[in-house]
Amino acid sequence: MIPPSTGKPFAISTSLTIIEDVACTGCGCLCDDLRFTIDNGRITKAERACELVHDFFLSIGDVTRPSATIAGQPAAWTDAISRSADILRAAKSPVIFGLSRSCTEGQRAAAALADFLGATIDTTASACHGPSILALQQVGESTCTLGEVKNRSDLVIFWGSNPVKTHPRHFERYSVEPRGYFTPTGRAGRKLVVIDVEPNETTAKADWPLIIKPGYDFQAISALRMLLRDIEPPPGEYGLPLDTLKQLANTMKAAHSGVIFFGYGLTRQHQPHRLVEILLRLVTELNDHTRFYARRMRIPGDVAGADSVLCWQTGYPFSVNLAAGYPRYNPGEFSAGEMWANGEADAAVLLGSEGVASLSPDAIAGLSRIPIISIDYPLPQTGLERSGLSPAVSFTTDIYGIHRSGTAYRMDEVPIPLKAVLPSHYPSDAEVLDAILNQLRG
Ligand code: SF4
Repeated sequence: MIPPSTGKPFAISTSLTIIEDVACTGCGCLCDDLRFTIDNGRITKAERACELVHDFFLSIGDVTRPSATIAGQPAAWTDAISRSADILRAAKSPVIFGLSRSCTEGQRAAAALADFLGATIDTTASACHGPSILALQQVGESTCTLGEVKNRSDLVIFWGSNPVKTHPRHFERYSVEPRGYFTPTGRAGRKLVVIDVEPNETTAKADWPLIIKPGYDFQAISALRMLLRDIEPPPGEYGLPLDTLKQLANTMKAAHSGVIFFGYGLTRQHQPHRLVEILLRLVTELNDHTRFYARRMRIPGDVAGADSVLCWQTGYPFSVNLAAGYPRYNPGEFSAGEMWANGEADAAVLLGSEGVASLSPDAIAGLSRIPIISIDYPLPQTGLERSGLSPAVSFTTDIYGIHRSGTAYRMDEVPIPLKAVLPSHYPSDAEVLDAILNQLRG
């Protein structure tokens, strides 16, 4: 049992330090209650860290990489900055991509570099929840913070999302188990419905698991919208039996406060923005009957921050082109994957390269033909290496929330402060980007 947090670091001996309330950027939950024991400059105990990140925290320090490389060989940092500036100076259409494993400081520096270059800047959202963002720009979003869910929701629905695997502490901290102001009995007072195309770790925990026919979510949501209006859906295929959908519509209307968390199961289907659009309409219409919310299940740690910083800096959340001297937003045309696949970019800056793995083979092939400047944490294997790509220049940076303080945004767009808990070994990504920008400015 971990004693209550004091919120302050304290030393047990000269070399052993306990740090409370550390935030984790392993996923969009951004749990900020971790407790680290630091011994001789290493994390030796990471309490409350889930299985996704526990071993990673304990292994920090095992991997050492050169601060900079040029063509795969260790290089002086200043030479690598100069080489990067040369690549970007010669480029007519550079693309800056990633951002979701950084934090506000790095994202802001990336936007400044893109602005100076007249580059395209895009985040991992374009390959993940981009369609959801397009949908909410069309029809709005009846949404809330995770604190609101904890304190109010007695009906929790996960649709196309498997949080037990992807967000292991989501149930415990926000959605299912915690006791809140209007949910004093915690798990016992909540009904958990999970809708997915096959049984998984989350359907196994549901009060009411619903296995929907693949590709029929649109029809099921359309039928629910009819049922809310007391219209009998015509005979047809709805992915779930009509009686089940009637029961679900009644359960939704009867809730005191409901929420639908939706994930990649919806955003990776055909016409995903249309699918999310009618889901958001359904949730808005449910508010004629009761309090109801929708929330995206964001996976990468600070992808919500990347959206927020780009919106703040350019007015748009992803796929932004600055070549005209003002921001232009057009997902598809200015999405990094499409630009690389179509041969429309002649240099790439990857701010965290793990998102490369989710790109199409054509995009990866296009990326292999242009010079890449890669900025990554000291990981055993970067996303670029996993994809078989070699950067022209690479930089290794400190990890925000471990070596550097900063700000990251939880999946519900709540900003969470990140602490520095270990000594710094490398520059931050913001320092790398600022140095490149300064070199370009001469
Ligand atoms: S659920 Fe996510 S944020 Fe929380 S400890 Fe696990 S990886 Fe970190």
